[in-house]
Amino acid sequence: MRKTGEWGEFFPSSLAPFSYNESLAQDYFSLSREEVARRGLAWHEDEERRNYLGPQVQIPESIRTTDDSICGKILTCEETGKPFKIIPQELKFYREMGIPIPRKCPDQRHRERLALRNPRKLWTRQCAKCSAQVETTYAPDRSEIIYCEKCYLASVY
Ligand SMILES: [Zn+2]
Repeated sequence: MRKTGEWGEFFPSSLAPFSYNESLAQDYFSLSREEVARRGLAWHEDEERRNYLGPQVQIPESIRTTDDSICGKILTCEETGKPFKIIPQELKFYREMGIPIPRKCPDQRHRERLALRNPRKLWTRQCAKCSAQVETTYAPDRSEIIYCEKCYLASVY
């Protein structure tokens, strides 16, 4: 392994037990299916699940009108068309919080949450209180007020 340069290196991606698009790598370093194939990595698409032709379930508008039978049904994501289920623990949580059953599949909800985060880039800006230079993920054209760490901590505590 020392002769071939493998010694001390991490395992090669060809030994990864998960496909690229199923891993966190796709969230942080998004690649197309073609690019993944070009790099010799695995891609997984569950065609059988995507082509679900079972009954279309009407998702109730309110959690108060949702009964336990929803957990035995296959729901369809209104965004991607991908089938998904609600588990009893999830239904219990939605009832406790008084929020309706989601209309989007867990993967789509995850993608939408990721899209809300700041980009993985730093800008140099000035603290709104003391004008010190700070590195921030908030772009200069954004409306948020940026403080340096010292001013932030002084205003919070
Ligand atoms: Zn400051």
